[in-house]
Amino acid sequence: MQDQPLTITKTDLQDMMVATIKAAREPNSTEQRKIDADDKEFEQAQSIRLQTAESQKQEIASKRFVAKTCTHRRKDGSYRVTHVQERNGPGYMLCLWNQCKIRPGIAPEGYEGIDVYSTDKFNELFQANPAMGEIFV
Ligand SMILES: [Zn+2]
Repeated sequence: MQDQPLTITKTDLQDMMVATIKAAREPNSTEQRKIDADDKEFEQAQSIRLQTAESQKQEIASKRFVAKTCTHRRKDGSYRVTHVQERNGPGYMLCLWNQCKIRPGIAPEGYEGIDVYSTDKFNELFQANPAMGEIFV
């Protein structure tokens, strides 16, 4: 059988080249399995990150709630706090029940921590605190 002459247009040739290059770039089945496994691993890691972030958010919310509702007192009504002096500023009152930190003044803008900002509460606790309980940091 003799080969028949074949006529190909420029567009046909271009289409064939594009299809060939595309096929050559496609991952083979082994490569595709690796890609799928990587995708699955990434999704699992992402899911774990989201769960961790959510549990940390809940933990912070829980600590914030405890700090705001804690009386910082012993059963006999006396405060169980100590003054922590920081290098700068008035420091804070540390509750020895729940590690609540009560700071004077107003929370910095955008503050998302768990410290309680209340000048009145800080003053009350500071005045009720025996000076020998001071901690310097
Ligand atoms: Zn407390």
